[in-house]
Amino acid sequence: MKTIRGLFLSTLLLAACGETNQTEEVDPQTPLSGDFEFVEGDPVVKKALKAEILENDWLIHGKDTLVSVDHFNKNIWWELKYASEDNFMHRVLYDTLKKPYVQIDIARRLAKSQEYLTGRDSGYHLLVYDALRPLSVQWEMWNALDTIPAFERGKFVSNPRNGSVHNYGAAVDLTICQSNKKPLDMGAEYDDIRKIAYPSLESEFLKSGEITQQQIANRKLLRRTLKSQGFSNIPTEWWHFNAFPRPVVKSKYQIVTRELGE
Ligand SMILES: [Zn+2]
Repeated sequence: MKTIRGLFLSTLLLAACGETNQTEEVDPQTPLSGDFEFVEGDPVVKKALKAEILENDWLIHGKDTLVSVDHFNKNIWWELKYASEDNFMHRVLYDTLKKPYVQIDIARRLAKSQEYLTGRDSGYHLLVYDALRPLSVQWEMWNALDTIPAFERGKFVSNPRNGSVHNYGAAVDLTICQSNKKPLDMGAEYDDIRKIAYPSLESEFLKSGEITQQQIANRKLLRRTLKSQGFSNIPTEWWHFNAFPRPVVKSKYQIVTRELGE
């Protein structure tokens, strides 16, 4: 049977070292203490897992350990757009997912990216809008854009049939903000599906005057920051970065098919 484990920090360290974790009975009265094993389909266990996701900085999914994007560096800030109505669908898409999670090795690279950024300007913070995105939510987004033909739609939302790198906790959507939480001007908002959001067309929009040198400089700073730790960007979204190429992601991590704790 498929299982999901929730463990606490002491055992997280063991897990990171590759040691076997011990499990014990779930006590529904105290779901947030000790080690325990979750079995999908058990309502008591689901409740406990839900509580854990809401409260904790990390989670275990199969063989993978995922942590909050700020786990190793609290100068990384986040604002999970799909857990609010402030997104392109104008409704809450994440029910139990309240923090942006990534694979633990990727969180270390994000922490170093933030160090790079702090070195450029100590008042700058990475501001993460999305990270782990369950496949079930990917389908909701895909279906919501059904007025766009499927071959075009892939430019805005990854086709769920192929799986998005977000579904593995290996992609981040993010910008840079100042200490006052004001994001830098990138010339297009997050999730803007217009071509002005395309990194590949920046020089054309600069020529037409629709984007400024400063806006491009801000995007370049974001790209340099993430590329310093091996992240790569895509041609159609200034905010999206993959930690590894898709085939590597698929061989390295497990896909998260549905929202944990639902
Ligand atoms: Zn993305």
